[in-house]
Order: sequence, then structure tokens, then C-alpha cells
Amino acid sequence: MFDKVLQDIYTESKLQPKIGEIANYIPELANVNPDKFGIYLTSISGEEFGIGDVHERFSIQSVSKALSVALAYSLLGEKIWERVGVEPSGNPFNSLVQLEYEKGIPRNPFINAGALVIADMLITELKNPKEDFLGFIRNCSGIADINFDYKVAQSEKDTGFRNAALANFLKSFGNINNDVDEVLDFYFHQCSIAMSCSELTKTFFFFANQGLTSSGELILNQSQVKRMNALMQTCGFYDESGEFTYRVGLPGKSGVGGGIVALLPKQFIVSTWSPRLNSNGNSELGMYALEQLTTKTGMSIF
Ligand code: GLN
Repeated sequence: MFDKVLQDIYTESKLQPKIGEIANYIPELANVNPDKFGIYLTSISGEEFGIGDVHERFSIQSVSKALSVALAYSLLGEKIWERVGVEPSGNPFNSLVQLEYEKGIPRNPFINAGALVIADMLITELKNPKEDFLGFIRNCSGIADINFDYKVAQSEKDTGFRNAALANFLKSFGNINNDVDEVLDFYFHQCSIAMSCSELTKTFFFFANQGLTSSGELILNQSQVKRMNALMQTCGFYDESGEFTYRVGLPGKSGVGGGIVALLPKQFIVSTWSPRLNSNGNSELGMYALEQLTTKTGMSIF
């Protein structure tokens, strides 16, 4: 069934006007062809369907935040919510404003401020933070050669003044325990990880499979997975989380590399890649394709 639906969606998507701009505030990301496009779906029963540029790796950027939170949650349990909230922010992903009156507790772990606090937790917990995080992703996906894109990480380090401001601001409230530069270095590397649509669906398998990877390893318990999916539903697209929920009706996570991963618990994981972004930093065509998927199949959580 998915074969035909994805084929139709791909054809229709290709006919859409080319709206949106590639992220160029990270110079290295601007080198990507803005018209790349792919959709890949992996079902829990093991079927796979892909069309377009689904095996080419791209910078997953903030899609990585779902994975860093999952690792911190698995290591620390409910304690993580003492330092980061679970409310939608209604503000852009890189906003500083709420931190002041919320005394350094970021609204949720998917905005940059929240992801920096999660990065700080991982640095404290892991022996070799960057390597161990990569190991976690390789383990979830079963793909041994997933790696950082060091050029992208360096490019973001060179230009990431706003993230540096956020990390310093958090530190001033006492919500960063490690060295600010170390936290930023970890964060820029996690965002630089390169994966394809096909690989993303395999990595996110456990979110749709009650915490179990495709090889049967338990990453999070059932309650934790429920909460992670709830967070992706309410906060995964920043100040456009309501719009994504309204149009697509699936929990998901986006990144400024143009990737989106979304999932229907116990059914499937789907990933799209199209680098043209709307003004909220989410992939314009990716959102369109996913809206078509849940509309045509009737398969959403609502
Ligand atoms: N690395 C990017 C940043 O911090 C991630 C943003 C995103 O993908 N929304 O700006």
C-alpha cells in the first residue's frame, strides 16, 4: 500500500512551487543542492519503501535533539525534567527571551536552550561524550559508519554566536555545569551528524516500537517512549508545532538541514528530506509530503 501512496506523493510534491530558502546561517549547509528530495518509510513489521534522494546523507541538525534527549533520559530518568521543561515554547528554536523570566530552565529540550542543557547532562554522564553519543546512534540504527560531519561542526562553531549566548546565559543561571565551550562543541557535533532518510527511519525505530530497536534492544521503557513522543508532538517543530500537529498529526522532529522524521507508534517511521525551509526553519516540502501521507492513508495519531 505504501509503495503506491509514496509514489503519488513524490510525483505531486515535485510539482509544488519551490518555496523556501536553504539554511545559510551555517555557511557549510548552504552548499547543499536545495532541490534534493526524498521520502522513506519503514514499518514496524519490517517493510521499507523509499523514493527520491533517500540514501544520500545530509546534516540532521536538530533531528539529533530527539536522540540526545533519549540518551539522557535513559541514563538519568525523570531527573532530567528538573533542568528542562516539557511545554511548547511558541518561540523560534534559537530564542533567548523566555530564559530570563524562567530563570534559566528552558521550556523544552528541543529548543536550542534545552538541547544545550541536555548536552551538558551528557557531558557529565558519559566518559567520552561525543564518541559515546555517536555509539548510541550507531547502536540504535545498527549502522556502524554514521559519523559527524566535521566541516559542518566547524562551520557552526565559527558562526554560532547565538548558541554561545544561550550557553553563557544558561551558565549564569547555574543550569550548565561543564565548561561552556565544551557544551557548545558537543552540541555543534551532535547537530552535524550526517544521515540519510533511510538511516533516520532505522534510528528512530525504537520510538515507534515501544522502546525496542529493530534488533530487540530496549532503549527506553514504555512510559518514557510515550513521553518522548508526546514531546515531539507538542514541541518538535518549535513555534510551528501546532501547525505540524494540525496538518500532519504525527509526533516528529525537524532540523535546519531540511530533514524531518515522524512516526506513528506501533505502525511506521517516515523521514523526508528537502532543504528548502519555511520561516520557522522547517522543511516546506517535507511538511507538505507528510501532510499528504496522513491525509491519503488516514493514518495519524488522531
Ligand atoms: N545547529 C542548529 C542551530 O543551533 C540547529 C537548529 C535546527 O536544526 N533547528 O542553530
